[in-house]
Amino acid sequence: MKAIVVRPGVRDSIHMRDMPDPKLRPDQVAVRMIRAGLCGTDAEIGEGLYGAPPEGDEYLILGHENFGIVEEVGKHARGFKAGDLVVATVRRPCRCHTCRGGEIDMCCGGAYQERGILGSHGFMAEYYVESPQWLNRIPPALARIGVLLEPMSVVEKGIDHAFLLQRRFKWKAKTGLVLGAGPVGILGAAVMRARGLDTHVISLESDADRRARILKRLGATYHSAAVETLLDVKKKMPPIDVAIEATASATASVDAVQLLASNGVLCLLSLTGGTATAHVPIGKIQQQIVLGNQIIFGSVNANARHFAMGLKDFRTIERKWPGVLEQLITTRLPWDRFKDWFGTRDGGIKTTLEMTS
Ligand code: BGC
Repeated sequence: MKAIVVRPGVRDSIHMRDMPDPKLRPDQVAVRMIRAGLCGTDAEIGEGLYGAPPEGDEYLILGHENFGIVEEVGKHARGFKAGDLVVATVRRPCRCHTCRGGEIDMCCGGAYQERGILGSHGFMAEYYVESPQWLNRIPPALARIGVLLEPMSVVEKGIDHAFLLQRRFKWKAKTGLVLGAGPVGILGAAVMRARGLDTHVISLESDADRRARILKRLGATYHSAAVETLLDVKKKMPPIDVAIEATASATASVDAVQLLASNGVLCLLSLTGGTATAHVPIGKIQQQIVLGNQIIFGSVNANARHFAMGLKDFRTIERKWPGVLEQLITTRLPWDRFKDWFGTRDGGIKTTLEMTS
């Protein structure tokens, strides 16, 4: 079968090649891929900065944002039938106690694998095989946005954990903030709006950008960081109860703290590469966090519960703002044109690779 592969650690090594068809075990399901989503993690792997091949392999099949159709069901596999639309989760467990308890996203052993990222082949291939426990069935009515479920699950986890953390006191969240209007940021704003929060988004694009238009349709207030400083924006915004940082900038992560209300919670979702350094007013920030009972926490990946929450919110968002989520998919590339995205990264929101004609 055809697959898009990379040699992790080697810049610009991405190419399409023939790989052996995966072998279907009796307890597995075989899935034909329909489309894959592209994200910053794929770009980082492409630049040789991240990722690892399966043990003993030189190449990694790339791709973790996925959407496909069940082609064959092993004779001992339960719960799926040929023709079901599915999205697979990304992370696979190690033997630590959190992984064994099903919260693989909170792995404490560190030996987890991630399909298409770390130690396990991904989904940019004609077929993959998987155990039913890692598959989510997508209702046909949500087929057009199914490929957004993996990034949505990451957002759901961040917001879910923010609300769980705030069970420390009698909290009533009224205001939400998202920093960064990429796919994760817009999905985050959509979830906040579905929860009825007065939602604000700060990002670099101008007010006329399509991201701002989508956010406006969702009923969120967009503030362009191209024309206003953070302090200007702060003056116009209510104090923020729950914030998500999704900018891929470490500086923005620190800036976001300054926008939090007393008792507020900030979730850092960006993977930034980890090389930034800066002089920051650490005394002021420390004092504000203590005197304001604030929480700043990091969040990565998602477990089965968050994929289910994502599907539920997809339904709510589609009911309230029909078609808005599909507007996030701004470029659909035939999958053999994957190189058009790696390297150039057009100014769109989400690019997908279309894998069936
Ligand atoms: C993926 C997550 C993954 C993380 C770290 C993100 O792009 O969406 O599933 O855990 O990268 O590898």
